[in-house]
Amino acid sequence: MKHEGAVRRFGPRYGLRVKKRLSKIEAMKKAEKECPFCGYKAVKWLAVGIWYCKKCKRKFTGKAYTIVKKPKVIEKPSEEEQESKEVKAESNQAAQEAA
Ligand SMILES: [Zn+2]
Repeated sequence: MKHEGAVRRFGPRYGLRVKKRLSKIEAMKKAEKECPFCGYKAVKWLAVGIWYCKKCKRKFTGKAYTIVKKPKVIEKPSEEEQESKEVKAESNQAAQEAA
């Protein structure tokens, strides 16, 4: 049996145990993960312990290579909401000036 996928690039170097562990970690990083906030499988591994959901645009903490059930949100997608409010306020002002 050959070692497939992620660890193959290492060839015959390094120990078997190291390669096994690494392939497990890479598989965990690549596996589809359900977002604990919106339920979509759109969670992306950003860095060790940091995850990002492409669907609800939340950045949250987790374990090093896997997410947890009750993660802590680092970043919420509030920029877009604020932007649309600003645009509304501006258009209101423009309407008042025109009147
Ligand atoms: Zn989400």
